Amino acid sequence: MTAFRTPIEPENIKLLIAERIHDPQLRGNIARATRTSLVKRAAVVDDYPDWENMRDATHDIKRHVMENVGSYLAQFERNAAAAGAQVHFAADAGDASRLVCEIAGKHGRRVAVKSKSMTGEEIDLTHALERAGFEAIETDLGEYIIQLAGEPPSHITAPALHKSRGEIGRLFAEKLGIAYSDDPEHLTKVARRILREDFLRADVGISGVNFAVAESGTICIVENEGNARLSTSMPKVHIAVMGFEKLLPDFESLSLFLNMLGRSATGQRITCYTSLLTGPRREAEHDGPGELHIVILDNGRTRMLADPQLRSALFCIRCGACMNVCPVYQKIGGHGYGSIYPGPIGSVITPIFRGEERAAAMPFASSLCGACAEICPVRIDLHHLLLTWRERISARRKGKYVERLAMRAFQHIAERRALFDLSGRLLRFFAPLLRDREGSLRVPLWGATRDFPSPPEKSFRQLWDEKTEREERG
Ligand code: SF4
Repeated sequence: MTAFRTPIEPENIKLLIAERIHDPQLRGNIARATRTSLVKRAAVVDDYPDWENMRDATHDIKRHVMENVGSYLAQFERNAAAAGAQVHFAADAGDASRLVCEIAGKHGRRVAVKSKSMTGEEIDLTHALERAGFEAIETDLGEYIIQLAGEPPSHITAPALHKSRGEIGRLFAEKLGIAYSDDPEHLTKVARRILREDFLRADVGISGVNFAVAESGTICIVENEGNARLSTSMPKVHIAVMGFEKLLPDFESLSLFLNMLGRSATGQRITCYTSLLTGPRREAEHDGPGELHIVILDNGRTRMLADPQLRSALFCIRCGACMNVCPVYQKIGGHGYGSIYPGPIGSVITPIFRGEERAAAMPFASSLCGACAEICPVRIDLHHLLLTWRERISARRKGKYVERLAMRAFQHIAERRALFDLSGRLLRFFAPLLRDREGSLRVPLWGATRDFPSPPEKSFRQLWDEKTEREERG
C-alpha cells in the first residue's frame, strides 16, 4: 500500500481522497471488508422477525429519550451514584480528557489499558494520556494494530479494516520483532500474549459505553474479544467515557437495541461478550474495580439536540452499516474523510465536533443515493441530513458567485417550457463541437472534474410525442 503523507484532518479531505482513490490495494481491502460485512448482516437481518418495524421502534425510543434527555440523564446519574459509581460531566473534548487523566493519575497510577471507544477517539484520549505521562495501551485487536501503525481508526467498528493480513504481518514483524507471518490466528495469538501481560500490570482500565440504562444506572459494553471485560474488571479503577446519546430508558429497550446493534455492526445475532456494569465491585464480590467513574460528554451534542433538523443524528448507535454500504466510503475508506467518524454519519456529526469550517467539505463527499438511510437500524434519514448541511454551508459561502449565477440561470430556464426546449435544441446543435474522444462534453470549471454526458439526438419529450403519434395512427 502507498505511504500516504497528508495529515488525516477534515480540512484535507480533497488531498486525502486524491491520494487514496488511485491505490488499488487499499480499494481492494476496503471493498472486500465492506462486502463481507454486508453479506453477513443480510443473513441475520433476514431471520429477525419484523426488522422494519423494529427499526421504527428503535427510532421512536431514541426520539423519546432525546426529547426527555434531562430527566433520563438525572435518573441515570441518581441510580449510578446509588450503585457506587462516580458520575462526571464534561463540556468538551479537552475537559473530558483532563478529567480522565486526573482520575487515572490519582494514587500515582501510570499504566492504562483501553478497550475500543469511539468517544475516546473523539476526545483523542490516547494521546492526551500519553502527553500526561501515561502508558496507554489499546487492547482491541484492530485498535492495537493501528496504534502500532501510528494511525487513527478507519471505521467505527473495524478500525484496521483498510489493512490486508500481509500488511498486518509486516507491521508486527517490524514493530514487535517477530518473524513475518500473515496467518491471522498466529498474529492474534502474538497480540494476545503481549496484551495479557499489559492487563496484569495495568492500574486503570478505560472503556466506552454502548448503552446506558437509566432505570438502573447500568452501563452496557458489547464486544467480541473479551478485552473490554478484562479492561473493566482487572485494574483497580475503571473509567467509562460516553456521550449522553447512549441513554436508554430500561432493560426492555436495551434488549431490542442489542439485537439491532449486533446484526447491523458485525452480522451477529448477539455479540460474544455483553457486559452489564452497575457500580464498582461490591463487598462480597471477588473481582471488578474498586472505583467506577462515568464521564458523560457533551462536545456539541447539546447543540445537535437543540437543532430540530440535525437532532436525529444523536440516535446513532455506531453500528457502521452506513459506511459499509456507502459507495463513496467503499472507494476512499475512512481515512479519506479526514475524521475518526467517517462515512455518512461521520459527515453529519464531524462538522459539529470539529467545527463547521474545518469539516465543510465532508457533507459533499456523498452521492446522496440514500443507501445509508435505507440500512440504518435506527432509521436516521442520513442523506437528508447531509443535504441540510450542504444547504447551510452553501448559503454561507461567499466566493461562489459564478456557481450561484449558473444555478439561478438554470432555475430561470427550467421554469419556462419554451426556453427549456430551446436550450435543449441549442445544446444538441453544438454538442458535436464540444464532444471529447470518449463522447463526453468538455465543460470548463464545474465540469472539469465531472463526466458531462453528450445529449441524445432526441429529447425525451420528442420521443414521447413520436410514440404517442404512432399509437394514435394505430
Ligand atoms: S447512522 Fe445508522 S447506520 Fe450509520 S452508524 Fe449510526 S446507527 Fe449505524
